[in-house]
Amino acid sequence: MSELKQTEPNQPKVNLLGLTRAELEQFFVEIGEKKFRSQQIMKWVHHFGVDNFDDMKNVGKELKAKLKNVAEIVAPRVTHFQESTDGTRKWVVQLDSKNSIETVFIPDGKRGTLCVSSQVGCALDCSFCSTGKQGFQRDLTVAEIIAQVWIAHRSFGTPENRGVRHITNVVMMGMGEPLLNFDNVVNAMELMKDDLGYGIAKKRLTLSTSGVVPKMYELYDKIDVALAVSLHAPNDALRDELVPVNKKYPLAELIKACRAYVDKFGDSRRVTIEYVLLEGVNDTFEHAYELIELLRPVPCKINLIPFNPFPHNPYKRPNGMRVRAFQEVLQKAGYVSPIRTTRGDDIDAACGQLVGLVEDRTKRSERWQATIESQVVEVRPAQNK
Ligand code: SF4
Repeated sequence: MSELKQTEPNQPKVNLLGLTRAELEQFFVEIGEKKFRSQQIMKWVHHFGVDNFDDMKNVGKELKAKLKNVAEIVAPRVTHFQESTDGTRKWVVQLDSKNSIETVFIPDGKRGTLCVSSQVGCALDCSFCSTGKQGFQRDLTVAEIIAQVWIAHRSFGTPENRGVRHITNVVMMGMGEPLLNFDNVVNAMELMKDDLGYGIAKKRLTLSTSGVVPKMYELYDKIDVALAVSLHAPNDALRDELVPVNKKYPLAELIKACRAYVDKFGDSRRVTIEYVLLEGVNDTFEHAYELIELLRPVPCKINLIPFNPFPHNPYKRPNGMRVRAFQEVLQKAGYVSPIRTTRGDDIDAACGQLVGLVEDRTKRSERWQATIESQVVEVRPAQNK
């Protein structure tokens, strides 16, 4: 709530985009207005994507003038926008002069999933992850996290024709480890769930962690959302290598934390296990059997993700037969274990390829830059001020 103190004269304006309903109510009380104003403003900002007080039709002139003095609605600038032939959309969002992030929307029938970033880069350095190779730059603010949903939501049209809900699911699975930007991620997810925000159902709002165990318990106490765990290995020796945070919070602790989630929220809950398949590294029958044994205490489904290679990385994608053989072992043991198909290949938006291309230190940015120069659908900096 420290942001609210910024309403003093000559202080920076409060960015209403990043305030939860409770914070917005407090904001209105502090400027001498009724709490219910927060409901009007939230609808304008989040439902209709408005970023200008003058466009808020049911807000009186006096209040508009007051708001202009102390508040603003500012999202970071979109520098690139692309749409794949399969409908996948990708935005590169510039947070400041040094940092950009990516947000990806993936349509699938009636479902539309938005993959949201929580940090610029990542400190956890998983060996198969291109984001991890950039190192950690900084956490995103609540406004910067929610702006990704706001930008995607606005991209589907004007308030008048936005009868259809395009974004039905959100996964905190973009750049960064969300549990290491805990407070901002929890507040942003509150806003995503809020009916006056984006009304995303709790089972359709997923936080994906690589296993920062103490923060997992904190999360369960704060907010009820779906849980995904980036597992990628069935034993500690291999996981220490692939997901180094495992050295601090080994598998026994992680599995206990997953079980605690199911116990807390009820048996119908399933944890989603993410397992990137790397040829010859974690994709043998032995690994599959070990995985089954490891996951016995946890009701879960297992998403199998054939690795998407990127330059300067030693891993290979297993062939289709190998992937299906791995899947079959899991299915025979009773696990739902879909193979995640690659989407948005033509715009580098496939899962596991989220990387700050503007900042990255590999040749991928050059390749991507060349692609967007020939394929840019629209670049709309004006949309976000
Ligand atoms: S996989 Fe996730 S936690 Fe690991 S380095 Fe990449 S962004 Fe960070």
